[in-house]
Amino acid sequence: MSSSTVLVIGEQYHGKVRPVCLEMITAARRVADALAGEVVVAVPGADVAEIAAEFATIEGVDRVMVAEHNELTPFLPGPWTSAVTTVIRGIEPFAVLIPSSITGRDYAARVAARLDLALVPDAIELAFEHGQLVASRAVLGGRVQTSVRYIESTPALVTVAPGAFPRTERGTSSAPIESIDVAIGANDLGVSLVEKSEHRAGPKGPMSAERIVSGGRGLGKAENFALVEELARELDAAVGASGATVGAGWRSHADQVGSTGHTVTPKLYLAVGISGAPQHLVGMSGADYIVAINRDPDAPIFKIASFGIVGDLFEVVPALIRQLKALAD
Ligand SMILES: Cc1cc2nc3c(=O)[nH]c(=O)nc-3n(C[C@H](O)[C@H](O)[C@H](O)COP(=O)(O)OP(=O)(O)OC[C@H]3O[C@@H](n4cnc5c(N)ncnc54)[C@H](O)[C@@H]3O)c2cc1C
Repeated sequence: MSSSTVLVIGEQYHGKVRPVCLEMITAARRVADALAGEVVVAVPGADVAEIAAEFATIEGVDRVMVAEHNELTPFLPGPWTSAVTTVIRGIEPFAVLIPSSITGRDYAARVAARLDLALVPDAIELAFEHGQLVASRAVLGGRVQTSVRYIESTPALVTVAPGAFPRTERGTSSAPIESIDVAIGANDLGVSLVEKSEHRAGPKGPMSAERIVSGGRGLGKAENFALVEELARELDAAVGASGATVGAGWRSHADQVGSTGHTVTPKLYLAVGISGAPQHLVGMSGADYIVAINRDPDAPIFKIASFGIVGDLFEVVPALIRQLKALAD
């Protein structure tokens, strides 16, 4: 391995490759190509042979490293910090890309502390310039984008925001799979998992859906989200929500789109009664098509919408549902 290696930490979610990892592989490949280097995916966990094999088939991956240990599943920050630290020490990469998942954010900071490295969280762009990695991120609720150059901290450690890069798909060949020994010490096992309970956002999670219908404060009250849910069902879409509706307790935070929620890049994003605050736009402006329904013709959401419907959502949405049902009949 060499310092032209870009290391991706491969996570799984419900036994599948975590979607943001496919996006990170796109970003890693771009940086590795600029470096004339390679992309290595490290897969920590217990019994990860299958998921490692899946990573090996992703286009643009040159090598997969399995960091297997019984204490790595279920996730606990101590063992993962040790595993990722061991991989980084073994490979000595140029850059390390970690998902900005709940777990990734947790161990990334610990890895940075243990290896005395600078960490840039939630990168939305990565570039290789003048021999250094430049990572960009949205700050102040998306009003400002900052770019940070890694100067003396090697490797460059970064967590990558979901939805910032296109996903790399499966290729036709399979990269070689190697393994690396991971030692988990007593110090890593200071806490244990007591209970895990999960909330699932809508019928599909908004993060990975191809179509999302999101509701905003214009709905007036929590019960009126039923309209958004019905429209989402007709479109086979996931349900998202603005920060205002989550703050009002109408929806769970798991549904929130925006700077303090999910960053999404669906093919279709339909915003119902959402004004288009910067904190919301930063999470969804990467959608292929944005359709906005709002009764205020000056609502900021119309500035980025591909199609806008100025009207009362309580008339427009039922009419849309009727049309979609008629089309399906
Ligand atoms: C630090 C910070 C982080 C934040 N993070 C997020 C985030 O992650 N995501 C997020 O979304 N927000 C976030 N916010 C909140 C954000 O600033 C806005 O307050 C929020 O996005 C507004 O939500 P909204 O568009 O639903 O509500 P509003 O801004 O109140 O907009 C409601 C819209 O509905 C329209 N409307 C009303 N009635 C109807 C009707 N009958 N028919 C049609 N249209 C109607 C109105 O014209 C209006 O445009 C954050 C704020 C801060 C300070």
